[in-house]
Amino acid sequence: MKIITRFAPSPTGYLHIGNIRTALYSWLFAKKNNGKFILRIENTDFKRSKNIFIKNIIETLKWLKIDWDEGPYLQSKKLDRYNNIINVMLNNGNAYKCYCSKEELKKNKFKQNTTKNNIKNNCKCRNNKIIINNNRPYTVKLYIPKNKNITFIDTIRGKITFKNNVIEDFIIRRSNGIPTYNFCVVIDDWDMKITHVIRGEEHINNTPKQVHIIHAIKASVPSYTHVSVITDTSGKKISKRNNTFNILSYKENGYLPHAVLNYILRLGWSYGNKEIFSLEEMKKLFNLKNLNKSSSIFTIKKLNWLNKYYLNKLSEKEMLNYLKKFFNKKNINIDNGPKLKNLYKIFYKRCNTLSEISNLCVIFYTDPNYNKNSIIKKYLNSDTKIILYLFLENINYTKTWSIKNIDFILKKILFKLNLNFKKIAMTVRLAITGFENTPPIRNILYLMGKKKTIYHIKNAINFIKLNNF
Ligand code: GLU
Repeated sequence: MKIITRFAPSPTGYLHIGNIRTALYSWLFAKKNNGKFILRIENTDFKRSKNIFIKNIIETLKWLKIDWDEGPYLQSKKLDRYNNIINVMLNNGNAYKCYCSKEELKKNKFKQNTTKNNIKNNCKCRNNKIIINNNRPYTVKLYIPKNKNITFIDTIRGKITFKNNVIEDFIIRRSNGIPTYNFCVVIDDWDMKITHVIRGEEHINNTPKQVHIIHAIKASVPSYTHVSVITDTSGKKISKRNNTFNILSYKENGYLPHAVLNYILRLGWSYGNKEIFSLEEMKKLFNLKNLNKSSSIFTIKKLNWLNKYYLNKLSEKEMLNYLKKFFNKKNINIDNGPKLKNLYKIFYKRCNTLSEISNLCVIFYTDPNYNKNSIIKKYLNSDTKIILYLFLENINYTKTWSIKNIDFILKKILFKLNLNFKKIAMTVRLAITGFENTPPIRNILYLMGKKKTIYHIKNAINFIKLNNF
C-alpha cells in the first residue's frame, strides 16, 4: 500500500506553529515511507477564507522547504463533486433536508442542553418523509443511525468510541448550497486515497462525524493520528487567532528555516535524548510511535538555542548571503564601512538570530539614532560632554589606531575626570552607536576606524548642544 498523507489547512489565518507541525509530521511520514504528500486548501468557509492566507501557506511551506507532490488543490473548485455525492445520499436516505427555521433550531438546542447524558434529539425533519417543495431554504443533514456506537483507532490514544446518541445529525450542506468542512474533508481524503490523516487534537471530536460520513458513502477509514496541543508557557493553547505565532515572522526575525523545523519536530515527538536532527535524519527516524500524548510547551529559549547552534554551523558564504539579504531589505549600503566578512565573525557567537547579528553590524554602516529616551538623556548631556571633548582631543593626537591605544585613551580620561569606567564607556558607546548593548567598546571603536569615530563624536556633541540636555 502506498502511503499518502496530506496537509489540509483552512486559509482563515496565518500558519502557526501547530499547523506547521502537522505539515511536517505528515510530510516526514510520507517521505520516510516513499509515499506521497498532498497539499490541499480547505476554503469552503468563504467568509473567513482569504487569498493572503493561501499565499502565506505556500510561502511558509516553501521557506521551510516542505515540498508537496501534488496540489495545492482548492476545495472551492470541487463543489460539483461534493454536491453530486450529497444528492446520492439524499436519494438513498443517508441524508435528509432540514427546513427548520433558526428559531426552531435554537429551541431544539435549548432542549438538548437541558437533557441528561448529552443525548441529542434531532429535529422533526429527520423523520419527515414528505418532501417539501416550496422553495423554502433548507440544509442537508447526515442521518446518523441511533442506539449504536462509532469507533475509530487513534495512533496515539488507541481505540476511541463515541455513542451515536450523543452526536446530532449535523449539517453537511449549508442552506447556501456550500458543503461543510466535515463533509469535504471526507470526500477529499477518499478521492485522494489518503491512507494516514495526521492532524491536531482539536479535530478529535470531528473524527466520529467524519467516520459516519465514510460509512455512509462506503469509503475506507484512514488511519488517524491526532497530535497533542501546543501551549505557550502560561498554558494557553496556541491558535490561529494569535498572530504572534505566524511562522513567517520567524523568517523576518532572523531564524533559520532548518532551526525552526528541528524545533517543531521535537515539539511533540522524541527520539531518545537526541535534539539535533539533519533533514536526512528527520526523514529516516520519524515515526508515529514516538509522538507524545501530553501537550507540548512552546519556549522561545529552546528555539533560540537551536537557531544559535545552526547559525554557528553556517559557512562564511551562507552567512554573508543571509546578512546581505537583510541589509538589502533595509536599504542599507554596506560598501562604505568595514568588510561584512570581518565584522560578523566578531559578533555572531553571542547572537541567537540573524537579525541580532545584522543589528550589530548595522552600527558600522549607518549613523546612530539618538532617540531622546532616558538612557540617551542620562549619558549624552552637558555633564558628560566633557568626556566626549577629551576623547576627541586625544584621538586627534593618536597616530596608530589600535585597541591598545584606544584603551589607553579611555583610561586617561578615567583618571583625569575621576569617573568610573562604565560611565565613560557608556557615553562613548551611545555617542558612537546609539545602542546601550554592544560588544566591548574598544572593539567597536577599532572597527569603526578613526575617521568615523571622530565624525560620530562630533555629531553627539552637536546633538547635546542642540537639545540643551
Ligand atoms: N482544515 C483543517 C484545519 O485547518 C484541517 C482538517 C484536517 O486536517 O482534517 O484545521
